[in-house]
Parts: sequence; structure tokens; C-alpha cells
Amino acid sequence: MHKVFTADNFIQLDQLRSLLLKNGIDCMHKGESSIGSGAAGGEVPPIAIKNELHIFEESEIEIAKELILEFLTAQNDRTDWVCKDCGEHISKEFSDCWKCAGENIESI
Ligand SMILES: [Zn+2]
Repeated sequence: MHKVFTADNFIQLDQLRSLLLKNGIDCMHKGESSIGSGAAGGEVPPIAIKNELHIFEESEIEIAKELILEFLTAQNDRTDWVCKDCGEHISKEFSDCWKCAGENIESI
């Protein structure tokens, strides 16, 4: 297992995971690393949720990082947008309108 990225949030992580899978790179979300060993005594320890993306093949690390970087660069260039169909203000992380599922025409 090789960590290629730590995401800011789960949405971003999910987007990157689909991106890698789409490019034929097997990967998984590894976020529950601190669960398990400290469960004795009944009290639930605070869980540090880490949004880490891990891949399996060492030979794919470089290409995975490149894909992620490309994705993030494209995302940084984007701004919040307004849906042409329903007028809803949409945050830049989303490429589709969450209200009517309309696409962000300007980002394409
Ligand atoms: Zn809309």
C-alpha cells in the first residue's frame, strides 16, 4: 500500500478515487487507521478520520500523483458558479447543480 494523497475532505477524496479508478489505477480510501486497538473498556476513543488515498502498485505511484495534481490544478482554476437552469449558487467543488442536476457549462 502506498499513500499518494491526503485530501481536505471526503468529497475531494471520492472524486480523486473515481479519477484513479477511471484511469485503471486500483486504489482505496484509508481513513479508519486508528479504529480497533483502543476499543477495550467500552469507551470509544476519538477517531482521527484521515482522508488518505492509497494505491496498491508501486509502479503506479508517479502516474497517480500526476493525475491528482492535474485534477487539483483544474479545480483551483474554477470558481463558484450559478446554475443556468435554476439559478442556484453552486460551490466550485461541484460540476453539477445539486438542486436540478444541471451541468456547469462554463467549466467544460
Ligand atoms: Zn440547477
